[in-house]
Amino acid sequence: MTTDTTPETLSFQAEVKQLLHLMIHSLYSNREIFLRELISNASDACDKLRFEALHDAALLEGGGGDFKIRLAFDKDARTLTITDNGIGMNREETISNLGTIARSGTKEFFSRLTGDQQKDAHLIGQFGVGFYSAFIVADRVTVRTRRAGDKAAHGVEWSSDGAGQFSVTTLERPERGTELTLHLREGQEDLLSDWKLESIIHKYSDHVVQPIVMGERTVNQASALWARPKSELTDDDYKAFYTHVSHDPVPPLAWTHAKVEGTQEYTQLLYVPSHPPLDLHDRAARHGVKLYVRRVFIMDDAEQLLPPWLRFVRGVVDSADLPLNVSRELLQQSKDIETLRKGCTTRVLTLLTSLAETDQEKYSKFWTGFGRVLKEGVIDFSSRDKLSKLLRFASTHTDQPEENVSLADYVARMKPEQQQIFFVTAETFNAAKHSPHLEVFRKKGLEVLLLSDRVDEWVVAQLTEFEGKHLVSVARGDLDLGKLEDEAEKKQQEEEASHLKDLTEKIARSLGARVKQVRITHRLTQSPACLVADEHELSGNLARILKAAGQKAPDVKPILEINPKHPVVLRLQREEAKFDDWSAVLFDQALLAEGGQLDDPATFVRRINELMLS
Ligand code: ADP
Repeated sequence: MTTDTTPETLSFQAEVKQLLHLMIHSLYSNREIFLRELISNASDACDKLRFEALHDAALLEGGGGDFKIRLAFDKDARTLTITDNGIGMNREETISNLGTIARSGTKEFFSRLTGDQQKDAHLIGQFGVGFYSAFIVADRVTVRTRRAGDKAAHGVEWSSDGAGQFSVTTLERPERGTELTLHLREGQEDLLSDWKLESIIHKYSDHVVQPIVMGERTVNQASALWARPKSELTDDDYKAFYTHVSHDPVPPLAWTHAKVEGTQEYTQLLYVPSHPPLDLHDRAARHGVKLYVRRVFIMDDAEQLLPPWLRFVRGVVDSADLPLNVSRELLQQSKDIETLRKGCTTRVLTLLTSLAETDQEKYSKFWTGFGRVLKEGVIDFSSRDKLSKLLRFASTHTDQPEENVSLADYVARMKPEQQQIFFVTAETFNAAKHSPHLEVFRKKGLEVLLLSDRVDEWVVAQLTEFEGKHLVSVARGDLDLGKLEDEAEKKQQEEEASHLKDLTEKIARSLGARVKQVRITHRLTQSPACLVADEHELSGNLARILKAAGQKAPDVKPILEINPKHPVVLRLQREEAKFDDWSAVLFDQALLAEGGQLDDPATFVRRINELMLS
């Protein structure tokens, strides 16, 4: 801890300056949220102290756990004051907390700002505006604070006009906690009224657990919303509480509230947001579930309560059984947490299942936002059955990029003789949709799932069957349509294969080490050739994904399959002089068609040009 007591003036981090500027100019019409943000910080500060005091009672400085948030105003001085007796901050903490932004997603946030005020205001809302929102209504903010447990002489005063700099100095402060004084801007006088402040508190902060006191009166409900009976709560109550726990101003898509009594007793109130947060794909990002034990706040972001693939869920879990002094480390080893985690996971999956069944529109909104994360869950064996019903894919049934076909839909549409669920993987939707591997399936009217999301390769590696039907890649192994082909077709295929045996061998010799094998295929109707992976080998798409991610992929040689009816193949039978060029072009274009990259594009182009002229 710093012992420096001299006053100093420091600059805000560049991002803070940018944020302040945006906030003051874009959020003006929504100015009331500043109070919600500041009260939420005060409430967090009380929660933090209560938690730390479980391990070190001296932090309460002789008092009990009598936490309060006070709100007062002074008409003459045109100031508004918010005081809490929470954890407070020392000098170092003040400088770093109120001078920089240190949350995940910050970079992403700034890269998405466009300068369009309406859009940016929406983004700021998603980001959670926090302390700096005070400057929406104030042209000077003074913070007086002292960390719980520190000497009275180690108080800190922080002050700024929100332009570019702030000052810090040492202050004698007998009371622990934080006092914020807002010097209101011109035109904000209406905030200097009991009625106005109370109405803002009712709107945004009713559910804060600590009493919010004005004068002698407590103006909020000050009770844990999740502990109240469902019958007493309205949708608006639930929505307001969501904003409180998530800092997300957009109402949630769905929620589930239940009291569980069994081997473990706990209450869960879990929400599915209606849009993804900025750091959704960052697996290290904060988790959104808060853990309470018998209504005492224990920790934010309790990642053990839900698996990583449900990291978008927000809410509260309140356990009646865990010890009050539980820490993250203890939690990791606790058997009770396993039960909680299972209970929460099942609860969320049930919520999503019923959403999918009752409200397709909402569910597809959910899928667009969170589908990629949910897919990661196929790794969890215990949830796989439920989860596989929630998956959605694009498919040749619609040929649209929207992922809205479920495996159950697919199975319901399967032909009577069809045994398997077919899919193709590619790097983009268009590459999947136009993949040569699909040609025979289209001709026979067989539906194929079009997978173009990177995690899809991994999904189909984990999820090998659905309701007893195997998931089969159309680009792997020998195409065996079994009963889907009639005897005449099979006979004709065998004849063609033996008839063209010389040709396939000749192409194989010409391509040498580039291919594992060359053979006749019946998957193609329009293209002359395609590449397939051997039954148990890595698909070309997966090998490319691994390479792009900088990982080692084993060098797998593809099998080149040629279409015996295609004019180019027929023409090749008569070719002598340029046979090697023809073979190479056949191979290269098959690689291009499945989204691959040529080792030597210039040679490909030269060959094409020569063949065009010959
Ligand atoms: P956030 O709350 O999202 O982290 P803020 O900008 O609101 O972002 O606050 C930054 C940090 O400043 C908080 O994380 C907290 O550590 C500290 N802080 C803000 N208000 C208070 C307060 N009333 N008491 C103690 N610490 C506070």
